[in-house]
Amino acid sequence: MSGKNSRPSSHSPLTLSPSKGERVEGERKVFQYPANAGTGSPVTRAERGRQLYEGKWKVLYEAAEPDHLILRFKDVPSFRRAGRPTRVPGRGSLKARITARLFAELMGQGIPTHFVKMLGERELLVRRLEMIRLEVVLRNVVAGSLAARLGMESGTPLSAPVLELYYKSDALGDPLVNESHVFALGLATGAELRTIRETALRANRALLPFFAEREILLADFKLEFGRHRATLMVGDELTPDGCRFWDRATQARLGKERSRMSPAQEAARYHEIYARICA
Ligand code: 5GP
Repeated sequence: MSGKNSRPSSHSPLTLSPSKGERVEGERKVFQYPANAGTGSPVTRAERGRQLYEGKWKVLYEAAEPDHLILRFKDVPSFRRAGRPTRVPGRGSLKARITARLFAELMGQGIPTHFVKMLGERELLVRRLEMIRLEVVLRNVVAGSLAARLGMESGTPLSAPVLELYYKSDALGDPLVNESHVFALGLATGAELRTIRETALRANRALLPFFAEREILLADFKLEFGRHRATLMVGDELTPDGCRFWDRATQARLGKERSRMSPAQEAARYHEIYARICA
């Protein structure tokens, strides 16, 4: 592993000239994509390039342009934990559309993401990123591992958002890390971490009113970041699988805490979130 400032300086954020679909206002790139992501033409198997990666829920392929990749969302996972029901009919398409809608919303507010456009029902054209092995969790309400770790009651509002970093490592179970650990592991530079924090907080400020209008309390969510040339961008996905959505009025869980749900309930909740976000 390399040390704290080992990344080349060309990785400092937001410094290169804009590429297609972008313009620069002062220091800040503004991403010009439709606010409603729409659905583009599907790619055929023959048009997809080489498969680069297959995870539990996603597959990444090369695209026609070397700068782009095709991100395909699966309906069923490629492997399952014993006994865990996971079937949500059309899940891949719902996840692709929710991610497209939310990333378009972020880009409309000047927050760079890897999303370019939808390709049919379940595939996104995205920018090729060099991913940073961090999960960046933003919390507005106490829940999940925060409640367990600090002994706080789930549902307690946080007076200021809490940002946490987790090292993406299946072997280690994605441990919580601090800035010094990030440097010790050579995951990101100080400048990159500052940009990641600022961007995650800006994304939270953009998403909170978006969800509030839809009567959803965004309790917490997870972002991942990657480098695209000289720009740090939000990558991966933004879906009910990486967020806690609660009903604003009742605090009913709309997406997570699925272990207590039957597959039918899980499917219904997934469709409800989709309808609230994308309708
Ligand atoms: P917690 O740390 O409370 O379990 O999770 C905090 C938030 O980050 C939740 O919204 C959860 O969905 C998301 N999150 C944490 N780890 C992962 C992960 O490995 N994958 C996904 N998709 N989301 C995660």
